[in-house]
Amino acid sequence: MTARPQSVFPNQLPTYAERERVLLAPYAMHSVDSKGRRYFETEHQYRGPFQRDRDRILHSAAFRRLSGKMQVFTGEMGDYHRTRLTHTYEVASIARTIGRTLRLNEDLIEALALFHDIGHPPFGHAGEDTLHACLEGYGGFSHNRHALTIAEELEVRYHAFPGLNLTSEVLEGQFERTAKQSNSAAPLLEVQLVDAADSITYDAHDVDDALKLGLVQIAELKQVPLLREIVHDVQQEHTCLSADHLRMALVHGLIDRQVRNVLAYCGHKLKELAFENATIARQSPFRIGPDKELASQKSELETFLYEYVYRHRKLMEIRHTAKTKLGATFTFYIDHHDQLPPRYQKRAESIGLHRSVGEYLAGMTDRFLEKQFSQMQSRGGEENGVYEG
Ligand code: MG
Repeated sequence: MTARPQSVFPNQLPTYAERERVLLAPYAMHSVDSKGRRYFETEHQYRGPFQRDRDRILHSAAFRRLSGKMQVFTGEMGDYHRTRLTHTYEVASIARTIGRTLRLNEDLIEALALFHDIGHPPFGHAGEDTLHACLEGYGGFSHNRHALTIAEELEVRYHAFPGLNLTSEVLEGQFERTAKQSNSAAPLLEVQLVDAADSITYDAHDVDDALKLGLVQIAELKQVPLLREIVHDVQQEHTCLSADHLRMALVHGLIDRQVRNVLAYCGHKLKELAFENATIARQSPFRIGPDKELASQKSELETFLYEYVYRHRKLMEIRHTAKTKLGATFTFYIDHHDQLPPRYQKRAESIGLHRSVGEYLAGMTDRFLEKQFSQMQSRGGEENGVYEG
């Protein structure tokens, strides 16, 4: 641990530690209690450790590439729907709203939220499934685990150490996503909250995107009790809404219903449980999330989305094409490892060719992978790309 920094504006403005002491609840993760970073660094004068983590993630190459990675729907389907990047910002926004009200550490929440999907390969879950199959016998592939490899090894930002040198709390929070079953202590409340906000976010925006893309209609969505109630409430309040306004009011209602529920349920429980610090909160069976009734309604909604949206014929075709392209590109680089960028050729010497090719492909945007694939097709695979990872 390092000495606490003096305020950069002596006698005028509080340090981050002083501000947190006033604003955060005892059960929040206070920056002064951070276990620190793997490689020693002097503390910053006016940014707390989790603010620095957020900035490091924001400025990383892997974060910028989220703009070119699909969430559920691809660019071929239009430009209205969410990308992995806009999904990430929606998660961060909802998580901060809830975190501020519950007096949790917003800087940590934002860092965790911006980080949570950074390990996704191109082509969403179809891409992840393909890479996992390609790496069978070589450790498989998980986007949650790949996020840690990015943060600890792949990002190049500092001459003194590899990776981003994030705080232990952000790395542990991500690690807990990879090993949810095996941990004895629960994750920090901030980590639990980002998971809850992720679920609130995708449940709402997938309804929005699916409606806008015409994959489902409002009448079908009304099979889901939660959506039927919200549509009913909206129509009680506004009688002659256009289809677009009804869709937007439904999505707004869906986010608002979930956020209010989490705030009411968790606000009440946190007051009742009155954890004295973040460590005690982790030992409790209490988890940040919706109450039982809403959790069950969300599960009905997710079953509907799975059957009617994620397995929609149009999406299944796209998934199939994506798997073929990613699989063929993987095989190409296994057979032509001299065409990997130099750093991945070098990395293959330490982690093996299969894992190195997997990491190279995982970093690509959808568009870059498409380009690699078409170059392979049209030039017999002799063209090298410009992406350096
Ligand atoms: Mg997510």
